[in-house]
Amino acid sequence: MKILCIGRNYAEHIAELHNEVPDEPVIFLKPETALIQRNQPFFYPDFSQDIHHELELVLRVCKNGKNIEEQFAHTYFDAIGLGIDFTARDLQTKAKTKGLPWDLAKGFDGSAPLSPTFKPVADFADLGNIRFHLEVNGETRQQGNSGLMLHPFSAIIAYISRFITLKMGDLIFTGTPSGVGPVKIGDRLAGYLEDEKLLDVAVK
Ligand code: MG
Repeated sequence: MKILCIGRNYAEHIAELHNEVPDEPVIFLKPETALIQRNQPFFYPDFSQDIHHELELVLRVCKNGKNIEEQFAHTYFDAIGLGIDFTARDLQTKAKTKGLPWDLAKGFDGSAPLSPTFKPVADFADLGNIRFHLEVNGETRQQGNSGLMLHPFSAIIAYISRFITLKMGDLIFTGTPSGVGPVKIGDRLAGYLEDEKLLDVAVK
């Protein structure tokens, strides 16, 4: 399986990092070794002093597809969960300055905590209106809604599959809303999908 991620998909988050609004989706990948499953803790790595949380809606791909048309894209994922796209912002800023890839800043071990449960797509009344939020030590830091995405789920799937074949079991991180910020050892990160706590990660 592979983990596909979209960057710069919420206008307010683009503004907070002073990035430009892209014409086309910004896509990057994380390796499978980035995953943290079953709400296991995240161990702060020694190569960064500025790890940021980015809470995101995550799609679970349910069948293989290439060159998927947007009108059929909704049939290629069957469940939605939450993930954190942990980002070593210091490494990413250095890479961006030099025009170099983000792989290490985004793909290091443990950079992708994933909710142990995903909700079936059929359980959502409207995929264009899914609320989610992140609490750090009980305080709300990020609030998102799928309706605010610049590139909605179907557009992301259609776009990625022009370049990369989607396979059953792949995960798609769909971008983070504003409110990203640094985490520190001792923090507790809780991710809520609608009003249900799905993600609960300690930083150690
Ligand atoms: Mg992200």
